[in-house]
Amino acid sequence: MIYTDTRDSCVRSDFRTAVMNGMNAETGGLYIPVEFPKLDKSFLGKNPEPSFRDIAFESAKPFVGNEIPSDDLQAIIADAYPFSAQVVPVDPVSYVLELFHGPTCAFKDFGARFMARVMSYFNRSESDPLHILVATSGDTGSAVGSAFYNVPGLDVTILYPEGKISPLQEKQLSTFTGNVRSLRVAGTFDDCQKLVKTAFTDSQLRGRFRLSSANSINIARLLPQSFYYTYAALVVKHRSPRDNKIDDPAIIFTVPSGNFGNLTSGLIAREMGAPITGFVAATNANRTVPDWIASGEYRPRPSVATLSNAMDVGAPSNYERIKAIYPLEKVRELFASYWLDDEGTMDAIRSCYSRTGYIIDPHGAVAWHAWDDIRRGAMTRLMGGLAGSPNEPGLTPNVPAWAQRVAGKSAVGVILETAHPAKFGETVKEAIGREPSLPDRLEKVMSLPDMSIPMAADYEAFRAWLVANL
Ligand SMILES: *Cc1c(COP(=O)(O)O)cnc(C)c1O
Repeated sequence: MIYTDTRDSCVRSDFRTAVMNGMNAETGGLYIPVEFPKLDKSFLGKNPEPSFRDIAFESAKPFVGNEIPSDDLQAIIADAYPFSAQVVPVDPVSYVLELFHGPTCAFKDFGARFMARVMSYFNRSESDPLHILVATSGDTGSAVGSAFYNVPGLDVTILYPEGKISPLQEKQLSTFTGNVRSLRVAGTFDDCQKLVKTAFTDSQLRGRFRLSSANSINIARLLPQSFYYTYAALVVKHRSPRDNKIDDPAIIFTVPSGNFGNLTSGLIAREMGAPITGFVAATNANRTVPDWIASGEYRPRPSVATLSNAMDVGAPSNYERIKAIYPLEKVRELFASYWLDDEGTMDAIRSCYSRTGYIIDPHGAVAWHAWDDIRRGAMTRLMGGLAGSPNEPGLTPNVPAWAQRVAGKSAVGVILETAHPAKFGETVKEAIGREPSLPDRLEKVMSLPDMSIPMAADYEAFRAWLVANL
């Protein structure tokens, strides 16, 4: 596969370059494939559907081309995914797609684990390790640390703001050993980011060490997220006639979004032929994208803090990719958009639990509320011209091409549950009066010793530490 760039469509790059660079430093753009390969119709038509890993392999193959031979790609996928995504019906026309069965209990495990193994593969003939530096405000750091743990040829330094993340998040970051270590910085997330950015522009340091980043804009994190969309769409397509007597359902994915990487991966799956009819772009009060879809004007803004904090993004990095793949009209055909405030999020956790018995985390709750509103009449009202005020939470005034299918009751929803509810136990407890039980792998982490290293928010101190310790 050849990759181009969101800012300069003349750019031509192979997969290795796109992965190892992360972003194109020359243009400031993001890598995208020049075209979307199609999955074989006979493969997609298998009933029962192929396994998650088989879908992963068939989907990844055209994107890596001959840069990773099939046997090596199989091994990468087997090693990356000892777990899978789970489709859980919560009512006859709604399914939750649980994406938290990986080691850190968040969907970022899917992208980070694939990326780590691909980077290790491309680094295999180098004698020096590749040093990954990551600044994190919470979940990204643990997914990246865990994904790279014990992966040959790579080592990882995570910077996080001391005292500014949840105790569970801190445990997940501070208990790594071996090739992954964390620095607890006396400062803010912005200070952490500044230390990392300064290191990347320090030519003397770069002359000495091979440095790389592992951030969410990397194409190797986006592609693997398409695997679970294809898998879930096929599972739902097959079981829908039994669950709800809809033979050929319009399958709508509702995606709780921040940087919109997850939703962009859904577009990739759909372009590859997965039976996906449309999407709901669901955000918290950081509603830059819903506003764009409604008004046609893109206005990035500073982020505001919410209960679904992994979605607190005011300038979503993958907007640039969505815009490069589709014109606005096409986006409006494919997407409904929806935003929800914190009060609505608490209400969603509560009503999801009381109506379905399912305990959902604050991120998934935003998506659950969006789909629940849509299928219970909000879309029909919107089609009748009754749009709410754009400043009130709810469905944004845009009628996608699939709206009729919702009105005609032949649509089913898939709600992406991006984190295990126990990661946000306090919020969940406040909403429903009970704490979700902690999965074993989170409980284990809570009892490990803290290995984090204190660090001043000062570049000279950080640099000296790198030189002495890398
Ligand atoms: C990162 C994250 C999101 C947002 O995903 P994007 O790809 O940035 O849109 C949603 N939920 C959780 C739990 C996350 O960690």
